[in-house]
Amino acid sequence: DPRLEKIAAAIRVIPDFPKPGILFQDITTLLLDTKAFRDTIDMFVERYRDQNVNVVAGVEARGFIFGPPIALAIGAKFVPMRKPNKLPGEVISEEYSLEYGTDKMEMHVGAVQPGERALIIDDLIATGGTLGAAIKLLERVGVHVVECACVIELPELKGREKLGGKPLFVLVKGG
Ligand code: 5GP
Repeated sequence: DPRLEKIAAAIRVIPDFPKPGILFQDITTLLLDTKAFRDTIDMFVERYRDQNVNVVAGVEARGFIFGPPIALAIGAKFVPMRKPNKLPGEVISEEYSLEYGTDKMEMHVGAVQPGERALIIDDLIATGGTLGAAIKLLERVGVHVVECACVIELPELKGREKLGGKPLFVLVKGG
């Protein structure tokens, strides 16, 4: 797809952020490029519009940027998957491991119903721990996860293997 080259070019790579040795993929420059940003959303919408997806679950924080325009375009609801102690209502939570220590992801009770079909969206998959936790959280409440989708994959980190066989769709690869 000819759109992919411009999407990839609009993502800025910043060395040594947030720590020395990390090459950070910065999607804020993609948001400044109105054509590339629109193409990014369109490519996800084209893939999911006919898959009976009724939930777009966006992972904090950058899944909150890409998720809502996709949800509106395909006629799905948007559900935020948040860092701990951010959601005001009753939550269910899932712990997952990081490079050092653990983190937690939370979702409001009642936001989704058993049998609903979800797309999980984030900007980037690295080790896969974050998306793996999102899958578990949704499956625990009986939701069918259709697919995970990211703008960027860092394939060297083999995050796909942490998704328990769930398909992953990505637009560009980084590293
Ligand atoms: P994982 O759990 O797959 O190791 O890490 C993915 C999570 O960390 C995502 O929520 C993603 O936003 C964030 N992340 C890790 N590295 C990067 C990066 O280089 N760029 C961006 N934009 N996000 C990153």
